Amino acid sequence: MANQNTPELTVLIQKEMHNKIQYLHSRFESTEWSGPAWYTIKKKTKEGFPIKVELEYFKPIDLGNTGSTELDGEKLGKVLPAIYKKFPKLKKSFMGLIHSHHNMGAFFSGTDESTALEQAPVEGLFFTTVVAHNKDKYATGVSYRDQYGLPNFIEGEVESKVKMSVSKDWKSEADKIEKDAKPTYTTNYNINGYGRYYGQGNIWASKEAASDKETDKKKSESISNTSIEASIPLVQETELMLATQIYDKLLEMEITEVQFTSAMREKCPNVDPYLFASGYYDQI
Ligand SMILES: [Zn+2]
Repeated sequence: MANQNTPELTVLIQKEMHNKIQYLHSRFESTEWSGPAWYTIKKKTKEGFPIKVELEYFKPIDLGNTGSTELDGEKLGKVLPAIYKKFPKLKKSFMGLIHSHHNMGAFFSGTDESTALEQAPVEGLFFTTVVAHNKDKYATGVSYRDQYGLPNFIEGEVESKVKMSVSKDWKSEADKIEKDAKPTYTTNYNINGYGRYYGQGNIWASKEAASDKETDKKKSESISNTSIEASIPLVQETELMLATQIYDKLLEMEITEVQFTSAMREKCPNVDPYLFASGYYDQI
């Protein structure tokens, strides 16, 4: 390696492959599976070290037992032609490995590391990813041979940003109400306007109240006792934390999108589920 600072390797797993992994986790909760995986280099250093790599495709071809899975060359040789026929562009990617650790957490065991070192090619790179459905969910690394022919193995990180797709309409609708809501931040709030938001959440309630001066006055008192903050759609950190927990369940496919939306509405009503899924709150 040329640099003193080893550059960081990040392996990106996009939605489709992420879902495929989740599916296999749900089918094989306590059994290891493995197969060839194709990795495409998206970005490398001047010296050629891969820093951004995408897991383009993988195919499970062996189901082992709780503690091991084995990928034999013969099995692999049989499936490769069909894979390359179906996805010719994989010929341009590096073929490596993926295997599951089901519920043991993803890490490189002694066997995993020696496999990676054994497979280190004289030219090119060999990527390996380990996946699990609990504890650490991903481990990834790359092996290669240096100019003396000695194998090296370097661990990297997996980035798996799976986001719900947000329709343009949803976004512009939310943008609009957000924009319309802004005056409540700056202007002196007026009681009728307030009633519109909080009089049972119903515009008619405030009209009725307005017809009766006495009730209106009482209402104004009781309302001014409640926190004005309540009229501002502030997103509290606690709500964002709840939202993150609920979103994780969606990513883990423990809940459906519909359940996600209703859980969000119930547990963290100020966090817009679609905007949250789109990463809107990440900057906050
Ligand atoms: Zn392993």
